[in-house]
Amino acid sequence: MANRQNSENEFQRAQQVIPGGVNSPARAFGGVGGTPVFIDRGEKQYLFDIDGNRYLDYVGSWGPHILGHNHPAIVGALEAALPSGTSFGAPTVRESELAELIVDAVPSIEKVRMVNSGTEATMSAIRLARGYTGRDGVVKFAGCYHGHVDSLLVQAGSGALTLGTPSSPGIPEGCTRDTHVLEYNDVESLIQLFSEAGEKIACVILEPVVGNMGVVAPTTEFLKALRPLCTQHGAVLIFDEVMTGFRVAFGGAQERFGITPDLTTLGKIVGGGLPVGAYGGKTEIMNSVSPVGPVYQAGTLSGNPLAMASGVATLRTLKESNPYPQLEEKTTKLVSGLDEIATSLGIPHSVAQVGSMFTFFFNPEPVTSFAVSAKNDTEKFSKYFHGMLDRGVYLPCSQFEANFVGAEHTDEDLEQTLKAAREVLQEIS
Ligand code: PLP
Repeated sequence: MANRQNSENEFQRAQQVIPGGVNSPARAFGGVGGTPVFIDRGEKQYLFDIDGNRYLDYVGSWGPHILGHNHPAIVGALEAALPSGTSFGAPTVRESELAELIVDAVPSIEKVRMVNSGTEATMSAIRLARGYTGRDGVVKFAGCYHGHVDSLLVQAGSGALTLGTPSSPGIPEGCTRDTHVLEYNDVESLIQLFSEAGEKIACVILEPVVGNMGVVAPTTEFLKALRPLCTQHGAVLIFDEVMTGFRVAFGGAQERFGITPDLTTLGKIVGGGLPVGAYGGKTEIMNSVSPVGPVYQAGTLSGNPLAMASGVATLRTLKESNPYPQLEEKTTKLVSGLDEIATSLGIPHSVAQVGSMFTFFFNPEPVTSFAVSAKNDTEKFSKYFHGMLDRGVYLPCSQFEANFVGAEHTDEDLEQTLKAAREVLQEIS
C-alpha cells in the first residue's frame, strides 16, 4: 500500500481549524472511511499527492477538468490575464466573450448572467422563475443535487446523500414548504401534481442526466413529458446543467436530447477549474433580472477577470478540438470492460453511462431513481474504492457520484484501470 503519511498528518492539522478538515463535505471520504488524499498538483490525467504518489484521476475536480489538469491553453490564458489585475468590480470584455461562447453553444440560452458557483446559479434561477411567474411552487426530483440552496436541499443527492443528510437541519420549514419532491423518471406523479397544483408551480428543476445519485439517465418518456407539461401549466422548465453542460455534448444535455428548457444553470466546466457559475435562458425571462427587471441578483466577484479568462480558454479549446466522440468511445470501452469483469466474477452490479459520465453501481438493479439507488451496497463500494486508490486510481469517494473520463485519458490508462478493477473485484467477490 502506498505511503500517505503526509496526508495523514495534514488531515490531523486541517481538522483542528476546518470542520471535518475539508471545505466541502464530499471530499471527506465520509462514505468510504479513511483519510482524504491531500493533493500537491495535477498534470493532464494525473493527480500527485503530497507524499509523491501518482493517481489516474476520474474525478476531475468533480467535473470541471474535461481537458485534464493544467491544460496549456488555460494556464496560458491565466498567465496572460494575471498581470492586469485580479478584480475590478466593473465590466470587462472577457465577460462578453464568455457570454457569447455560452449563447452560441447552449441552444436555449439567449442571455446569460455569470455568478461564482453552481449553487448561486440554481439559487438565482429559482428566484427568477418565481419572480417571473409570480408563483412560489418548485418541483424537484429526489436524488438530484442543485447545490446547497435552502429550498432545494430536500432529498438531495451528492455529499448530502453520502453523509445521510439529504434534507439538512438549519433550513426553516417555510423555506421548503413550497418545494414538491417527486421521484426521477416518474411521469405519472408529475402529471398528477400539475393537475392538483399547476397554477401554483413556478418551475420544475432537474438534472437532465443525474450525476449526484450516481449517474442516472432520464427515460425518453420522462424527458419528452417535461416540456409540454411545463408549457401547458405556465411553469418555467429549468435544466440544471452544472454537471452536464459542455460535458455530455458541447451544448449540454439539451443539445444531446433535443429538448429546450426555459432556463439553464451552468458551472464546473464553464470556469475551467476557477469558481464560475452561470444561469441563462430566453431573453424575455432573463430581462426580469436586475438591473433590467425587478428580480435582484448581484455579486462582487461575478465575472471575475481571471475566472472569465479560464472559462473562455476552456470553451474555445472544447469548440476547436471537439473531444466528445472520443470521450464517449473511451467511456464506453471502460464501462463495458468493468461490466464484463464484474459479470464474469458474479458480482451483483449495474452500470450507467451518458457521454463521458459513468457509475459502476454495486446494485443488481439498474438505477433509475432515488428509491433504487438506496439499495446500493455501499460497503462493497468502500472496499472497491480503497482497492483502486491503493492501485493508483482516484475515483469519487462515494457510490452516489459520477465518474468522469477526460480528453487526456489514453487507451493505456483505460487498460490500467481495468487491470486494477479486475484485481480489486476479484478480492471482494
Ligand atoms: N447542480 C449540480 C447538478 C451539481 O452537480 C452541483 C455540484 O456538484 C451544483 C449544482 C452546485 O454547484 P457548486 O458546487 O459549484 O455550488
